[in-house]
Amino acid sequence: MTGAIFKKAGVIGWPVEHSKSPLIHNEWLRRYGVKGSYGAIPVAPDDLGREIRRLAEIGFCGFNVTLPHKRAIMPLLDFVRAEAEKIGAVNTVVVTQDGRLEGRNTDAFGFIENLKAGAPGLDFKKAPAVVFGAGGAARAVVYALDREGVPEIRIVNRDMKKAQELTSLFRSARAYDWHAGADCLDGAGLAVNATSLGMAGMEDLDVDPARLPPGAVVNDIVYVPAQTQFLRRAAAAGYTTVPGLGMLLHQARPAFQAWFGVMPDVDDALKALVAG
Ligand code: NDP
Repeated sequence: MTGAIFKKAGVIGWPVEHSKSPLIHNEWLRRYGVKGSYGAIPVAPDDLGREIRRLAEIGFCGFNVTLPHKRAIMPLLDFVRAEAEKIGAVNTVVVTQDGRLEGRNTDAFGFIENLKAGAPGLDFKKAPAVVFGAGGAARAVVYALDREGVPEIRIVNRDMKKAQELTSLFRSARAYDWHAGADCLDGAGLAVNATSLGMAGMEDLDVDPARLPPGAVVNDIVYVPAQTQFLRRAAAAGYTTVPGLGMLLHQARPAFQAWFGVMPDVDDALKALVAG
């Protein structure tokens, strides 16, 4: 039995009811016998500065941050870790023992852990990677791939300016025109959809993954639906595919550890619970 003191954490957002985080963290609290709670806390943009201080005052050990606060919260914190600063977003806040608010980003960790679990043979240093998208999540993806030593990261985004901004931040990043289509896949070892295309209610990412060399890995960070059309096309063409739900689960692990003192595991039962 761990966690003799009752610990409180949660997720702030506006709206926040849709968040899967309470399901994940409460399952881990139960599994690991930690005395604590994790709730969804609606926080309107105008109340952000006041609410995050209030949570610390009433004894929260930390909280997750979801839309629309991931960037706006940064100047309101006492300090932000270098990784979150470079990614340009905070998704986790830890309240330190002396009551200060520390901002972190665990999306890069979640992305890479999911990829390593789903495609254990992938050699990051061997071939270029293609990332579709240059939004908030794509920045964490590019950060993670750059840190793994991917020799060239081809960023393909509808708004070319956002792709170019990433090339100025990451040595290995190159911006590709959205209309280049599947050309960017030639010779790549990995393709990642980090756009919102393919999400329930959105059109699909209309790129044929079959231009990838044999043995390449295809990952989609979209997790609703569990299998996007992009992944289904890749699987049908014989590539290893890695769905996005695992990223959501893995990104929650370091936050749980920081607040509750246990590094939790991701397994099929947790995936089924959250997908269900
Ligand atoms: P952002 O709004 O920051 O970025 C959206 C991205 O999608 C941009 O690159 C945007 O391009 C692109 N896009 C949107 N609509 C279109 C379109 N019609 N045609 C072409 N490109 C389009 O969102 P996030 O980065 O936060 O999230 C992106 C996706 O990642 C979402 O589906 C989200 O659910 C998922 N996600 C998954 C996580 C996980 O743990 N698995 C974690 C975080 C996010 P442009 O810049 O040109 O507008």
